[in-house]
Amino acid sequence: MKVLKFGGTSVANAQNISLVKDIVATCATDKCIIIVSALGGVTDTLLNAADLSSKKDERYKTVLKEIEKRHLDTVKSLIPIHGQSTVLSKIKSELNTLEDLLEGAFLIGEITPQLSDKIVSYGEMLSSYIISEYFQHQQLNAAHVDSRTLIVTNEVNEKAAVNFKITNTNCQKFFSETPHKIIVAGGFIASSENGNPTTLGRGGSDFTAAIIAAAVNAEVLQIWTDVSGMYTANPKLVKQAKAIPNISYEEAMELSHFGAKVLYPPTIQPVLSKGISLEIKNTFRPEDKGTLITKSQNEKGKTVRGISHVENIALLSLEGPGMVGIPGISKRFFEVLSQAEISVVLITQASSEHSICVGISADDIDKAVQIVNNAFEYEIERGKIKPVIAEKNLAIIALVGDNMKSHQGLSGKMFSTLGKNNVNIRVIAQGASERNISAVIKKDDVKKALNALHEEFFEENIKQLNLFVMGVGNVGAKFLNQVCQQKKYLKENLKLNIRVIGLSNSRTMVFDEGGIPLKNWEDTLASGEKANKEQFFEKVNQLNYRNSIFVDNTASAEVSTTYNSYLGNSISVVTCNKIACSSEYSNYQELKSLARTYNAPFLFETNVGAGLPIIDTLKHLIASGDKILKIQAVLSGSLNFVFNNFNDQTSFHDVVKQAQEEGYTEPDPKIDLSGVDVMRKILILARESGNQLEIDDIENKSFLPQESLDTDNNDDFFASLVKYEGYFQKLYADAVAKESKLKYVAQFEEGKASVGLQEIPKGHDFYNLEGSDNIVLFYTERYPNQPMIIKGAGAGADVTASGIFADIIRIGNF
Ligand code: ADP
Ligand code: ASP
Ligand code: MG
Repeated sequence: MKVLKFGGTSVANAQNISLVKDIVATCATDKCIIIVSALGGVTDTLLNAADLSSKKDERYKTVLKEIEKRHLDTVKSLIPIHGQSTVLSKIKSELNTLEDLLEGAFLIGEITPQLSDKIVSYGEMLSSYIISEYFQHQQLNAAHVDSRTLIVTNEVNEKAAVNFKITNTNCQKFFSETPHKIIVAGGFIASSENGNPTTLGRGGSDFTAAIIAAAVNAEVLQIWTDVSGMYTANPKLVKQAKAIPNISYEEAMELSHFGAKVLYPPTIQPVLSKGISLEIKNTFRPEDKGTLITKSQNEKGKTVRGISHVENIALLSLEGPGMVGIPGISKRFFEVLSQAEISVVLITQASSEHSICVGISADDIDKAVQIVNNAFEYEIERGKIKPVIAEKNLAIIALVGDNMKSHQGLSGKMFSTLGKNNVNIRVIAQGASERNISAVIKKDDVKKALNALHEEFFEENIKQLNLFVMGVGNVGAKFLNQVCQQKKYLKENLKLNIRVIGLSNSRTMVFDEGGIPLKNWEDTLASGEKANKEQFFEKVNQLNYRNSIFVDNTASAEVSTTYNSYLGNSISVVTCNKIACSSEYSNYQELKSLARTYNAPFLFETNVGAGLPIIDTLKHLIASGDKILKIQAVLSGSLNFVFNNFNDQTSFHDVVKQAQEEGYTEPDPKIDLSGVDVMRKILILARESGNQLEIDDIENKSFLPQESLDTDNNDDFFASLVKYEGYFQKLYADAVAKESKLKYVAQFEEGKASVGLQEIPKGHDFYNLEGSDNIVLFYTERYPNQPMIIKGAGAGADVTASGIFADIIRIGNF
């Protein structure tokens, strides 16, 4: 004999019920017991109607009409016309009784748990009746049984306790005597010994199926639902979650107890006691293997099998000096909670015995505070115990696995993963079985925590990086293209999955949690909402993704003032914008310190030498104990381009214009030509070498005529270059006369930095610097005479974009 249970979604409408019939038909060579839930959502609707009527709200009638329509429509679609009238009239007559019950509640303006159970029972009563009638019309040898005549409970309503003795006898008798191959019964509903309707708790149809499976010693219990098994985490919150092929009863129980809703927790016990295997299958993808829950050991080497979570948790803490060494405090604490039927989900007690803290459902917290304070009134008045503390808006996440006990370091890995993602842990508990490690966290952090843990424990180190990109000019556009091109490679080779979730330019911004398609980001962005830097940050913060990275591809001072908000919320920042790192030292320091405190990398490799690994090398030198003695560098790709192309055959103006057009200069080329850009770069290198320097401390011997320096827009600036062509030609001729080349050099030595145009003689390391190349010479304690040299293309959108990309990959490997 097999027992198959179909949940609410599986029987939500005629179309789904016909899929159910197909499944039942294929396995009905044997005797089959089919347990069904109410049509999807009907239980909630019935409870809503009951609630409205008890509040004397006439709208219950509309809700009732909705319920009626759902059922009648389903019958009309499933049952051939000639057979419809009997079924329809039976349903109408049941609904009339339901209407009377609701009207009764409306008139007295009250609803008892008993009446509520009576009302809610209609869901399963009707669904099971309709489905059995449909099966019969489909030539299946089927019959209906009212499960209230089989499952007998105590008198407690809304979550009654089953009397297994009577129930087992009822089931054994009924199923051995029935001549039918297929018996359809409603889940969830039962009756007390006195014949009053009761129910087994929300989600309880699974339990009904397990009770019957155990009673009749079924060969298998199949739970058919809307997902392909028990997943490594709730698939609605963790996209990468996968069905677990095999799992032990205990693991499944632990997962379901901690929120894996796919299985109602009490379901396991009856099948476990009889060793009946339990399968979870997908009605909509019957070919999927699903999950097999048995006694057998799980796959070797697997420690963490699943991650589950319970939302709507509150913490209740009792503490005070009067608790130390006094026996009986905990007993009293738990006694009052139990008397009030408040169930405790998690317990921790500090070893000093100074406090006990329990996790309970948030729905119970107000009541709990009141009864505990009452119970300890005497101690509270005398200051021995503090009034109980309640914390709301929390959730529990739990790692579950039988083999976790034989492995060290799992909790360390769990907590460091949460820590890295700035998920604050309020309380930790590890079950005595060591099958479960639980942490209480903020409700708002659940999605991030689940995904981060899932990535750590299940995704073979595939790490999801969530990018929020601002600026899509020269560099930004190239960057997006590179991400688009490299996505597949990174996933396969570096196990990094990069998604751009937010994108903004100065006009519009867009967000797409599934990842903005990068092939046509221009159109997507153009149709976005109005851009706003603050709202952009708010959105990134509110999305609260793990591994979130804000990427600044702008040259905007305003954007650079938002970094502290990102870093302060554990969102990494990658930027090619030099303004923040060359602003006041205190600001640079603050950003670095926020990055450390909140575990959010702040990377700006492209601030110096575009994609060249200059800052990274400097960091490694210092981290390994080296000391910087002197830095000499040509750091302006733009100026190098200009002076390499400028000669007596060209004009200074044209060369600068060309540099601008080819993307070698800042949008405002004066920032490059005045030396400000190089000042910023040497300042950043000096700071990264451990020196506290301000931009004003840098000596700048500008080669530009004062008139050019004084211009305040690009047109005037370019006009001044034309005017002073003779002056620029002379600079060139003087250098040529000394067989030298003009290079704009930055230098840092003994705490002093300077920048300026120099005539570099033949033979010097800088002499042959081509195109827009940069070069940096690091003289250090380990490289005192022959400096460490880094040289290569130091400007241009492509190399800058790839430098940003490299920073992002650094974060991925962090
Ligand atoms: P049914 O109505 O078939 O009983 P439920 O809604 O009670 O279905 O349970 C199935 C749902 O459980 C899934 O749609 C999924 O959203 C949720 N769920 C939560 N955690 C898990 C998990 N670890 N594995 C599978 N499903 C889960
Ligand atoms: N219909 C009930 C509920 O929604 C029982 C179940 O579906 O398992 O809770
Ligand atoms: Mg369910």
